[in-house]
Amino acid sequence: MRLILLGAPGAGKGTVSKVLTELDGSVQISTGDILRGAVKAESELGKTAKGYMNRGELVPDDLILGIMEQRLLEDDCKNGFLLDGFPRTIAQADALGEMLTKLEIELDMVVELQVPRDEIVARLTSRRTCSNSTCQAIYNTRFKPSKVEGICDVCGSETIQRDDETETAILQRLDTYDEQTSPLVEYYKNQDMLISVDGTSTDTVVSTIQDNLSS
Ligand code: ADP
Ligand code: ZN
Repeated sequence: MRLILLGAPGAGKGTVSKVLTELDGSVQISTGDILRGAVKAESELGKTAKGYMNRGELVPDDLILGIMEQRLLEDDCKNGFLLDGFPRTIAQADALGEMLTKLEIELDMVVELQVPRDEIVARLTSRRTCSNSTCQAIYNTRFKPSKVEGICDVCGSETIQRDDETETAILQRLDTYDEQTSPLVEYYKNQDMLISVDGTSTDTVVSTIQDNLSS
């Protein structure tokens, strides 16, 4: 399958992608994961991207488009791909359209995951990550708390909030989504590509996508 997943931060795009890739061998392409990898590797891309990411702002379009132009050419995309976190602006969507036309690739559809804002804030503020960089275990104070609050079960280090998962950064990411990314809902609706799904349950999202793909 060839899909775009749209939805606010914390809507569950990553989780849904992981389930879908296991169904048919498509690859998940997450620009957020690619950028976090670059930050960790301290590459030029990472050094440029880090500040934008920590502030909850978007990384400039030209950087992202450079990444995506190369990524879509890689062999593993031949079995299909799920775009998670891209496109995020109208300019990125226009550029993606041109890339796909050039590659003679057609998208199946664009899926919008709808999750109420208070649920999103609750999901994102409750995430904790182990501060030990070789461990990085992930916890959730609501769904998967560590045995001792603030301490990693695996290695005993302190658990912390990611720089972009503090309340201030999260509210900024949500504002960025509303201003720059949510116009894509209308954009793809006008192209007759969009389905909107209640994103509260991953199972429902996955089965709705499957139904739409086979119809
Ligand atoms: P989330 O959707 O939870 O905000 P992501 O992991 O998708 O998180 O992205 C993390 C950060 O990486 C974003 O806040 C933004 O700074 C940057 N980023 C990811 N994808 C893009 C993109 N397509 N365009 C611009 N910036 C991006
Ligand atoms: Zn740990």
